[in-house]
Amino acid sequence: MKDLAVESPLNEQEICVKCGFCCDGTLFSYAVLQAGEQGNLPEKIEQNYSKEDGREFFKLPCSYFCGKCTIYDQKRASICSAFRCQLLKDFSIDKITQANAMRIIDNAVKFRDEIYLLYREIFGNDYRLSFRNLLVDLAKYGNDAFEDDPLNQSIELLRIKCNIYETLLIKNFKSIKNFERLISTSMEET
Ligand code: SF4
Ligand code: SF4
Repeated sequence: MKDLAVESPLNEQEICVKCGFCCDGTLFSYAVLQAGEQGNLPEKIEQNYSKEDGREFFKLPCSYFCGKCTIYDQKRASICSAFRCQLLKDFSIDKITQANAMRIIDNAVKFRDEIYLLYREIFGNDYRLSFRNLLVDLAKYGNDAFEDDPLNQSIELLRIKCNIYETLLIKNFKSIKNFERLISTSMEET
């Protein structure tokens, strides 16, 4: 969601242009709005506006995302310029190189494509869901939804892949604290 035209150093722009995970529904289902922003936002963001428990947000994937932000030179939500994922923060303090950041994104795109392919093989649905919408869709099918059906194994495999993918997203793109919390919770459970 970085304001690519105005704020980011060129090498950060290259990373974000290759990625887009914070706009396309891979990392998040919604983007938080500041108080007072509603009513003054691009039309399609207004259309996806929602409010819950006093928090205001718009739903993702963003309708302005088409490979990259298509309105980066216009007034957008404040989060669009403010958000920086963990990967970008790590890069900005030289914790990872640009080549490594690009490789992480490449691998994440390939893994996500594998998940989409498996989803479509199972459900025969050629509509391309975002990763977060795919998780919501998958949750509709309980563990015994296809009892005694060979589909069960494929759905279980899809669930495992989604869990691994989510862990990788947390590790690489969300906060280190979230990842450490995830690891310690898993260890407590074993
Ligand atoms: S307007 Fe949409 S596509 Fe553009 S940066 Fe914001 S969330 Fe991303
Ligand atoms: S997830 Fe991070 S690297 Fe990807 S577009 Fe958003 S800020 Fe840039």
